[in-house]
Amino acid sequence: MSIFEDITAIQNIIYIVASILFISGIKMLGKEDTAVKGNFLSAFAMFIAVLVTIVFIVDPVILLGGILLGAIIGSTIALKVKMTSIPEMVALFNGFGGLATFLIAWSEYNSIPDNYFQYLLVMVTIYIGGVTFTGSLIAYGKLSEKLKVAKTSIVTKIFTTIFYGSILFLIFSILQPLLPALGFNFFTVLLAITLLGGIGFVLPIGGGDMPVVISLLNSFSGIAAAFAGLLLLNNVLIVAGSLVGASGLILTVIMAKAMNRSINNILFVGYASASKASSSEEQGEVSPINVADAFLILESASSVLIIPGYGMAVAQAQHVVRELGELLEENGTEVKYGIHPVAGRMPGHMNVLLAEANVPYDVLAEPDDVNPIMDSVDVAVVIGANDVVNPSATEEPGSPIYGMPIVEVHNAKTVFVLKRSMSSGFAGVQNPLFFKQNTRMLFGDAKESIGGLVSEFKD
Ligand code: NDP
Repeated sequence: MSIFEDITAIQNIIYIVASILFISGIKMLGKEDTAVKGNFLSAFAMFIAVLVTIVFIVDPVILLGGILLGAIIGSTIALKVKMTSIPEMVALFNGFGGLATFLIAWSEYNSIPDNYFQYLLVMVTIYIGGVTFTGSLIAYGKLSEKLKVAKTSIVTKIFTTIFYGSILFLIFSILQPLLPALGFNFFTVLLAITLLGGIGFVLPIGGGDMPVVISLLNSFSGIAAAFAGLLLLNNVLIVAGSLVGASGLILTVIMAKAMNRSINNILFVGYASASKASSSEEQGEVSPINVADAFLILESASSVLIIPGYGMAVAQAQHVVRELGELLEENGTEVKYGIHPVAGRMPGHMNVLLAEANVPYDVLAEPDDVNPIMDSVDVAVVIGANDVVNPSATEEPGSPIYGMPIVEVHNAKTVFVLKRSMSSGFAGVQNPLFFKQNTRMLFGDAKESIGGLVSEFKD
């Protein structure tokens, strides 16, 4: 009996229940107080879907063997991974999702009935799955800084050409049944060129843009899984794949919007080519401050807004930051955190770090919440953030980041900027905030500077 005839009504009903639970679980992820339950609910739904698949479809011994092997490898990696390396791990896991669909579609190639739609699905699934697999491996290499290949290198150019060639090959493969006169078997070449094309897709993109690319590849892996679901006539795979595909795409668009860049700019141009007119301009004198003086100002402040950025992640300062927040509150100061959606290097980066340090969710605010009341904030403490507080985004039409929403700390009564030097942030542009009259630069590693403030409060 073929796989298609073996699907029973009961199995499909259970798949629909699992799909409803998935969707409810994902919806619950949208609010902090229901997020943990939502995660469990979705995981439980996946467990039901896998269980039903074991019972109804495949030879359970093979399937259990696969699950066991995957579980051992997956949990070993997940247990070992550091919090800062989660984006790399996500990249790898996306890649394996792509590989799985690539292999499923390949295995279906020989059993395709005389049906052009099925043929089309096989070709497209192989392509998306293959590109996702090798593209994710490159994204992993770039994010972990194990792979350093310049955008302008000859290797990058060769692979980029192969990527465009692979699109042509996909088109030829799709057209082949309609044009038998072509007479060439594109399939084997398609398998190889797809995998090489994935390398060429990601290789020219800068390391800093990898989080956006990973989100896009995540979406691709979902789309490929949904197509594989269509091939296998497996409803739960179609639903789960579509959810991943759609949510990955929405996240990609949200990230691009928060950086005020188009997907095209991220994938094919990059920040490096953007105008850097404002990066080298001299903007005047900066006013440095030391820990002891910063403490005196903080001690008498009645409201403090903490704005964390990538530098807080680099310094791993989140625990001392939480301690400082608590000491300020004990001193009668109202403390809030201004969280920019693309602060750091992955979506939710700051939220994850602050949650790890047990900062309560209700003190985290978005730019739209804090910007209107910024002029009532006594001290805005910018910890390793740069681009996300750069006023050029609102004041300088020629700037590469013009139009990017920012946390408008320059409107606070006093601003402390904690960083090690005058060097620029991710976008490579100078920050006029550092030269404003109400700004004080507290130079040094963020963990050490905050640690110093904490000690002052405790003395
Ligand atoms: P930035 O990259 O703009 O700036 C980080 C700052 O941290 C640097 O200026 C650096 O200055 C400082 N820093 C580094 N290490 C330390 C340390 N140990 N102690 C103190 N300071 C330190 O970070 P933002 O968070 O403001 O902005 C994020 C940028 O990343 C945006 O441009 C965004 O578009 C981009 N991006 C974000 C993604 C996301 O998903 N979050 C994805 C892709 C890109 P110094 O060297 O002088 O210390």
